[in-house]
Amino acid sequence: MIDPHGRVVIVGGSIAGLTAAEELRSRGFEGELVLVEAETETPYARPPLSKAVLSGKEEPDDARLPSFDHLELEFWSGVEVTGLDTERKRLRVEGDDIRFDGLVITTGARAATLRDHGANEGDAPEVVLRTMNDAIALRNRLREGDDIVIVGGGILGMEIASTASALGLAVTVVDRIPAMLGAVGSHLSDLVMRCASQAGVTYTIAPDGARLQNAGDRVLVHTATGTLEAGIVVSSVGCRPNVEWLMSSGLAVTPGLVVDERCRVTPDIVAAGDVVSVAGGRRQPHWSNALDQARTAASALLQGDGATPYDHRPYFWTEQFGLSLKIAGNGPPTGEPTMLDGSADDLAAILQWVEDGRPVAAAALNRRIPISRLHNLAGHH
Ligand SMILES: Cc1cc2nc3c(=O)[nH]c(=O)nc-3n(C[C@H](O)[C@H](O)[C@H](O)COP(=O)(O)OP(=O)(O)OC[C@H]3O[C@@H](n4cnc5c(N)ncnc54)[C@H](O)[C@@H]3O)c2cc1C
Repeated sequence: MIDPHGRVVIVGGSIAGLTAAEELRSRGFEGELVLVEAETETPYARPPLSKAVLSGKEEPDDARLPSFDHLELEFWSGVEVTGLDTERKRLRVEGDDIRFDGLVITTGARAATLRDHGANEGDAPEVVLRTMNDAIALRNRLREGDDIVIVGGGILGMEIASTASALGLAVTVVDRIPAMLGAVGSHLSDLVMRCASQAGVTYTIAPDGARLQNAGDRVLVHTATGTLEAGIVVSSVGCRPNVEWLMSSGLAVTPGLVVDERCRVTPDIVAAGDVVSVAGGRRQPHWSNALDQARTAASALLQGDGATPYDHRPYFWTEQFGLSLKIAGNGPPTGEPTMLDGSADDLAAILQWVEDGRPVAAAALNRRIPISRLHNLAGHH
């Protein structure tokens, strides 16, 4: 708990950081608020980067987060924090120390690469999509390219596949498992595989994974059953929490920063969003989780044990191959869902999964539905 007139520093100026700032002010925090962000960009939302910004339907400025002038915070952009001293309550930045009474850690995550996974030992160029600059660079490549291989058929990989195929490129996706299986379960994975195939996307299942090799202006993608090649190879193999700057702080990192049920690391330090590991070390790198945790974190900084604990209600959405899919539930649903409304054949339905007589997940496919209703159908209260 901190003095409501003290000095709060937020490290990481994206959706979690700005939501925490908004929540602190709306809860009456009148002290000094400093937001430190490593990038020099005006804060932006990442979801459009793989959708409308990548396709060119929207410009980068359309993805900017709303103005935060009303929050009366000092915004330090282009400043990377490199260390934390929890005893002295100091952050390290190049050539300086930043003092804080309360600290909000919202440093998010970065794209993992095949090199991280030991599957690109040479100098094969790997394209990733995490930042605005990544999106602009990939968009330019897609405009000129003929073919693309995407390694990783998760949510992001399939969104990139969808955008690239709509732009007319020959698209191949390679993964160990079917598309998005680990996120949406077999029923919706089958549906996405069908829609991707109808859009002309080739999906290659390579249980032993893929390995990259540089071949001049082409990249070779080796799997156990053969070799693919393309002018553009995108790695979409997950994200890694930005925690390296915390390594000497003594805080627990497994692999994200560990927080309690009120998103606290210590009474004066809270964290939210993609940087965080929730129950059992699991991370939830999705937009609504960043918002919800940021609100909890800010209130815990001001109210301590009086703050309402974080209500863990997993939810995310994706748009690809003409599908707008919203899904709520703990982990990928298994088994066949019940159609509550519409039909999956018509690609417009509300689906619910029930286990042992209890709802465990729900999805809206090309249907408008209040998120609160979807949570109810998923058994979240
Ligand atoms: C292309 C893309 C599409 C997505 N689409 C969807 C979607 O459709 N639906 C969905 O639910 N989720 C989606 N997501 C996930 C969602 O965008 C993230 O969950 C969300 O951005 C997490 O917000 P965050 O603030 O925790 O972290 P981030 O957005 O990662 O922001 C962290 C910020 O901290 C800064 N930072 C890091 N280290 C330091 C440091 N040491 N010093 C100072 N600053 C630092 C970074 O520069 C960054 O700006 C998508 C993500 C991507 C990349």
